[in-house]
Amino acid sequence: MEILVTNDDGIFAPGLWRLARELKQTARVTVVAPDREQSGLGTAVTLRHPLRVQKVKPLVPEVEAYSVDGTPTDSVILALGKLLKNKVDLVVSGINSGPNLGDDVLISGTVGAALMGYRHGFPALAISIASLDNQYLDNAARLAALLAKNLARLSLPGSPLFNINLPSLPLSAIKGIKLTRLASRSHIDTVEEGHDGRKAYYWLVRQKIERNASKDTDIWAVEKGHISITPLHTELFNQPSPLISDSLCSELLKELQES
Ligand code: MN
Repeated sequence: MEILVTNDDGIFAPGLWRLARELKQTARVTVVAPDREQSGLGTAVTLRHPLRVQKVKPLVPEVEAYSVDGTPTDSVILALGKLLKNKVDLVVSGINSGPNLGDDVLISGTVGAALMGYRHGFPALAISIASLDNQYLDNAARLAALLAKNLARLSLPGSPLFNINLPSLPLSAIKGIKLTRLASRSHIDTVEEGHDGRKAYYWLVRQKIERNASKDTDIWAVEKGHISITPLHTELFNQPSPLISDSLCSELLKELQES
Protein backbone atom coordinates (compact mmCIF):
# COMPACT_ATOMS: atom_id res chain seq x y z
CA MET A 1 0.00 0.00 0.00
CA GLU A 2 1.22 3.49 -0.92
CA ILE A 3 0.01 6.41 1.19
CA LEU A 4 0.50 10.14 0.72
CA VAL A 5 0.46 12.02 4.03
CA THR A 6 -0.03 15.76 4.14
CA ASN A 7 -1.47 18.46 6.41
CA ASP A 8 -2.09 22.16 6.82
CA ASP A 9 -0.17 22.66 10.08
CA GLY A 10 3.19 22.44 8.30
CA ILE A 11 5.87 19.82 7.69
CA PHE A 12 7.12 19.74 11.30
CA ALA A 13 3.73 19.49 13.05
CA PRO A 14 3.65 16.64 15.60
CA GLY A 15 0.31 15.31 14.27
CA LEU A 16 1.74 14.77 10.79
CA TRP A 17 4.62 12.67 12.05
CA ARG A 18 2.56 10.67 14.52
CA LEU A 19 0.34 9.77 11.57
CA ALA A 20 3.29 8.92 9.31
CA ARG A 21 4.82 6.72 12.04
CA GLU A 22 1.61 4.73 12.45
CA LEU A 23 0.81 4.36 8.74
CA LYS A 24 4.39 3.30 8.01
CA GLN A 25 3.78 0.05 9.83
CA THR A 26 1.55 -1.19 7.01
CA ALA A 27 2.31 1.02 4.02
CA ARG A 28 4.94 2.92 2.13
CA VAL A 29 4.51 6.50 3.29
CA THR A 30 5.55 9.68 1.53
CA VAL A 31 5.06 13.00 3.30
CA VAL A 32 4.50 16.10 1.17
CA ALA A 33 3.37 19.09 3.20
CA PRO A 34 3.58 22.89 3.36
CA ASP A 35 6.82 24.29 4.77
CA ARG A 36 4.86 26.36 7.33
CA GLU A 37 1.43 26.45 8.88
CA GLN A 38 -1.25 26.97 6.25
CA SER A 39 -4.43 26.45 8.27
CA GLY A 40 -7.62 28.03 6.95
CA LEU A 41 -6.54 28.09 3.31
CA GLY A 42 -9.17 25.58 2.16
CA THR A 43 -8.51 24.49 -1.42
CA ALA A 44 -6.37 27.53 -2.34
CA VAL A 45 -3.98 26.88 -5.21
CA THR A 46 -0.87 28.95 -5.98
CA LEU A 47 -1.02 30.13 -9.57
CA ARG A 48 0.88 33.43 -9.60
CA HIS A 49 4.34 32.30 -8.66
CA PRO A 50 6.39 29.12 -8.99
CA LEU A 51 6.65 26.62 -6.17
CA ARG A 52 9.82 25.26 -4.61
CA VAL A 53 10.10 21.75 -3.21
CA GLN A 54 12.68 20.76 -0.63
CA LYS A 55 13.53 17.19 0.31
CA VAL A 56 13.66 17.22 4.12
CA LYS A 57 15.13 14.93 6.74
CA PRO A 58 12.21 12.82 7.95
CA LEU A 59 11.30 12.72 11.64
CA VAL A 60 10.41 9.04 11.13
CA PRO A 61 12.95 6.73 9.47
CA GLU A 62 12.24 5.26 6.02
CA VAL A 63 9.68 7.93 5.18
CA GLU A 64 10.42 10.13 2.19
CA ALA A 65 9.51 13.73 3.00
CA TYR A 66 9.22 16.93 1.00
CA SER A 67 8.23 20.44 2.01
CA VAL A 68 6.49 22.78 -0.40
CA ASP A 69 6.43 26.57 -0.13
CA GLY A 70 2.75 26.60 -0.97
CA THR A 71 -0.66 25.55 0.26
CA PRO A 72 -1.87 22.12 1.38
CA THR A 73 -3.60 21.70 -1.97
CA ASP A 74 -0.41 22.67 -3.84
CA SER A 75 1.39 19.95 -1.88
CA VAL A 76 -1.10 17.28 -2.97
CA ILE A 77 -1.05 18.39 -6.61
CA LEU A 78 2.77 18.32 -6.64
CA ALA A 79 2.88 14.98 -4.84
CA LEU A 80 0.44 13.26 -7.18
CA GLY A 81 1.69 14.95 -10.34
CA LYS A 82 5.44 14.89 -9.80
CA LEU A 83 6.95 13.52 -6.61
CA LEU A 84 5.30 10.14 -6.14
CA LYS A 85 6.45 7.54 -8.59
CA ASN A 86 3.96 4.78 -7.76
CA LYS A 87 0.19 4.70 -7.79
CA VAL A 88 -1.29 6.07 -4.56
CA ASP A 89 -3.80 3.98 -2.60
CA LEU A 90 -4.79 6.65 -0.10
CA VAL A 91 -4.30 10.31 0.76
CA VAL A 92 -4.38 11.14 4.47
CA SER A 93 -4.39 14.75 5.68
CA GLY A 94 -3.70 15.58 9.32
CA ILE A 95 -3.62 14.98 12.17
CA ASN A 96 -4.88 18.53 12.44
CA SER A 97 -4.45 20.38 15.67
CA GLY A 98 -8.01 21.63 16.29
CA PRO A 99 -11.42 20.56 15.02
CA ASN A 100 -12.68 20.76 11.44
CA LEU A 101 -16.41 20.49 11.98
CA GLY A 102 -19.56 21.76 10.26
CA ASP A 103 -19.08 24.43 7.64
CA ASP A 104 -15.46 24.85 8.72
CA VAL A 105 -14.71 22.16 6.13
CA LEU A 106 -15.08 24.94 3.56
CA ILE A 107 -12.02 26.82 4.83
CA SER A 108 -10.06 23.93 6.30
CA GLY A 109 -6.71 23.28 4.63
CA THR A 110 -6.75 19.80 6.18
CA VAL A 111 -10.00 18.99 4.40
CA GLY A 112 -8.87 20.96 1.31
CA ALA A 113 -5.83 18.70 0.89
CA ALA A 114 -7.92 15.53 1.30
CA LEU A 115 -10.46 16.94 -1.13
CA MET A 116 -7.74 17.43 -3.74
CA GLY A 117 -6.69 13.80 -3.36
CA TYR A 118 -10.31 12.73 -3.74
CA ARG A 119 -10.75 14.96 -6.81
CA HIS A 120 -7.79 13.13 -8.34
CA GLY A 121 -9.70 9.88 -7.86
CA PHE A 122 -8.05 8.57 -4.68
CA PRO A 123 -9.64 7.60 -1.38
CA ALA A 124 -8.91 10.37 1.10
CA LEU A 125 -9.15 10.98 4.83
CA ALA A 126 -9.00 14.30 6.68
CA ILE A 127 -8.35 13.72 10.36
CA SER A 128 -8.45 16.24 13.20
CA ILE A 129 -8.44 16.37 16.98
CA ALA A 130 -10.75 18.88 18.62
CA SER A 131 -8.06 20.62 20.65
CA LEU A 132 -4.93 22.66 20.03
CA ASP A 133 -2.64 20.94 22.53
CA ASN A 134 -1.56 17.87 20.48
CA GLN A 135 -2.87 15.45 23.07
CA TYR A 136 -4.18 12.01 22.22
CA LEU A 137 -2.56 11.89 18.79
CA ASP A 138 -2.24 8.13 19.24
CA ASN A 139 -6.01 7.60 19.02
CA ALA A 140 -6.22 9.51 15.74
CA ALA A 141 -3.13 7.89 14.21
CA ARG A 142 -4.30 4.37 15.07
CA LEU A 143 -7.80 5.04 13.74
CA ALA A 144 -6.33 6.35 10.46
CA ALA A 145 -4.20 3.20 10.13
CA LEU A 146 -7.21 0.96 10.83
CA LEU A 147 -9.30 2.83 8.26
CA ALA A 148 -6.49 2.55 5.71
CA LYS A 149 -6.37 -1.23 6.24
CA ASN A 150 -10.14 -1.60 6.02
CA LEU A 151 -10.49 0.61 2.94
CA ALA A 152 -7.91 -1.53 1.16
CA ARG A 153 -9.74 -4.71 2.19
CA LEU A 154 -13.27 -3.54 1.31
CA SER A 155 -12.47 -2.50 -2.29
CA LEU A 156 -15.34 0.01 -2.40
CA PRO A 157 -16.94 0.86 -5.75
CA GLY A 158 -15.89 4.53 -5.58
CA SER A 159 -13.27 6.49 -3.67
CA PRO A 160 -14.51 7.76 -0.32
CA LEU A 161 -13.72 11.12 1.24
CA PHE A 162 -14.09 11.00 5.02
CA ASN A 163 -13.77 13.91 7.42
CA ILE A 164 -12.85 12.51 10.81
CA ASN A 165 -12.82 14.42 14.09
CA LEU A 166 -11.86 13.01 17.47
CA PRO A 167 -12.71 14.52 20.81
CA SER A 168 -9.63 15.41 22.83
CA LEU A 169 -10.10 12.56 25.31
CA PRO A 170 -8.26 9.45 26.40
CA LEU A 171 -9.48 6.34 24.59
CA SER A 172 -11.21 5.07 27.73
CA ALA A 173 -13.43 8.18 27.80
CA ILE A 174 -14.45 8.01 24.12
CA LYS A 175 -18.08 6.91 23.91
CA GLY A 176 -18.14 5.52 20.38
CA ILE A 177 -17.75 6.19 16.68
CA LYS A 178 -20.66 7.92 14.92
CA LEU A 179 -21.35 8.25 11.24
CA THR A 180 -22.48 11.87 10.95
CA ARG A 181 -23.44 14.66 8.61
CA LEU A 182 -21.95 18.14 8.71
CA ALA A 183 -23.58 20.58 11.11
CA SER A 184 -24.77 23.61 9.20
CA ARG A 185 -22.79 26.29 11.00
CA SER A 186 -19.88 26.03 13.33
CA HIS A 187 -18.74 29.63 13.74
CA ILE A 188 -19.64 33.23 13.13
CA ASP A 189 -16.98 35.46 11.66
CA THR A 190 -16.42 38.69 13.52
CA VAL A 191 -14.03 41.57 12.95
CA GLU A 192 -12.00 43.20 15.70
CA GLU A 193 -10.47 46.55 14.94
CA GLY A 194 -7.28 47.89 16.45
CA HIS A 195 -4.82 50.70 15.76
CA ASP A 196 -1.05 50.40 15.50
CA GLY A 197 -0.46 54.13 16.06
CA ARG A 198 -0.41 54.90 12.34
CA LYS A 199 -3.15 52.84 10.77
CA ALA A 200 -6.18 50.76 11.63
CA TYR A 201 -5.85 47.00 11.43
CA TYR A 202 -8.41 44.22 11.59
CA TRP A 203 -8.41 40.75 13.08
CA LEU A 204 -10.88 38.26 11.67
CA VAL A 205 -12.02 36.35 14.73
CA ARG A 206 -14.02 33.15 14.54
CA GLN A 207 -16.45 32.73 17.38
CA LYS A 208 -18.04 29.44 18.23
CA ILE A 209 -21.81 29.41 18.03
CA GLU A 210 -23.23 28.32 21.37
CA ARG A 211 -26.26 26.31 20.47
CA ASN A 212 -27.39 22.74 20.55
CA ALA A 213 -26.26 20.96 17.39
CA SER A 214 -28.68 18.43 15.86
CA LYS A 215 -28.21 14.91 17.01
CA ASP A 216 -26.78 13.29 13.88
CA THR A 217 -24.23 16.02 13.17
CA ASP A 218 -20.46 16.01 13.56
CA ILE A 219 -20.49 18.83 16.13
CA TRP A 220 -22.99 16.96 18.27
CA ALA A 221 -20.99 13.74 18.12
CA VAL A 222 -17.68 15.30 19.17
CA GLU A 223 -19.29 17.42 21.91
CA LYS A 224 -20.82 14.25 23.36
CA GLY A 225 -17.48 12.43 23.37
CA HIS A 226 -17.85 10.39 20.17
CA ILE A 227 -15.46 10.14 17.25
CA SER A 228 -17.21 11.58 14.20
CA ILE A 229 -16.80 10.18 10.69
CA THR A 230 -18.52 12.32 8.06
CA PRO A 231 -18.57 11.05 4.48
CA LEU A 232 -18.20 14.10 2.20
CA HIS A 233 -18.93 14.35 -1.49
CA THR A 234 -18.57 17.01 -4.13
CA GLU A 235 -21.74 16.76 -6.11
CA LEU A 236 -21.38 20.41 -6.97
CA PHE A 237 -21.29 19.55 -10.61
CA ASN A 238 -24.16 17.28 -11.52
CA GLN A 239 -27.15 18.36 -9.49
CA PRO A 240 -29.44 20.97 -11.04
CA SER A 241 -30.61 23.43 -8.42
CA PRO A 242 -34.33 23.56 -7.69
CA LEU A 243 -33.85 27.24 -6.80
CA ILE A 244 -33.39 28.45 -10.36
CA SER A 245 -35.41 27.51 -13.43
CA ASP A 246 -34.82 27.69 -17.18
CA SER A 247 -37.52 30.33 -17.42
CA LEU A 248 -35.70 32.50 -14.85
CA CYS A 249 -32.55 32.13 -16.97
CA SER A 250 -34.48 33.29 -20.06
CA GLU A 251 -35.90 36.24 -18.12
CA LEU A 252 -32.42 37.17 -16.88
CA LEU A 253 -31.05 37.08 -20.44
CA LYS A 254 -33.93 39.25 -21.68
CA GLU A 255 -33.40 41.80 -18.92
CA LEU A 256 -29.65 41.79 -19.53
CA GLN A 257 -30.16 42.47 -23.22
CA GLU A 258 -32.67 45.25 -22.48
CA SER A 259 -30.61 46.98 -19.79
MN1 MN B 1 -4.48 23.25 10.81
